[in-house]
Amino acid sequence: MSGIADSDERLRGRCLCGGITLSVPAGAHAIHACHCGACRRWHGGPALVLQAVDDLRIETGDTLVRRFASSQWAERAFCGACGSSLFFHSTGDGQHYLSAGLFDAIAGARFESEIFIEAKPDWYALEGAAEHLTGEAFLARIGAG
Ligand SMILES: [Zn+2]
Ligand SMILES: [Zn+2]
Repeated sequence: MSGIADSDERLRGRCLCGGITLSVPAGAHAIHACHCGACRRWHGGPALVLQAVDDLRIETGDTLVRRFASSQWAERAFCGACGSSLFFHSTGDGQHYLSAGLFDAIAGARFESEIFIEAKPDWYALEGAAEHLTGEAFLARIGAG
């Protein structure tokens, strides 16, 4: 890994106030956009997240992390000081979907898909995703449908 990766090859990010720093393994992360109503309410617009990461480390500010149970199978975490949304945590399989905006640069990232495409309002559009999936198709793919 080059550039932004540290010697132990982790990608590091932080919340807006800097109270929370976290890291995930460096690598060519896939990015998903989610247009579902919960994500848009949570993020203020479509969510842009790193695909499932099972090795998330909260490096500093662990006591600032607040968790909100947004459904029976997921929780959403945010910074208790500045409100930055940190990640979506799928409690069934333990995967985390990190907010892409926490990271200054994500070397090798690729925009893989837009999901819950049927929930996207008409007044914006994104470009560059390799595929577009309905919520039903996405949930079926991850075995949650
Ligand atoms: Zn913060
Ligand atoms: Zn969503």
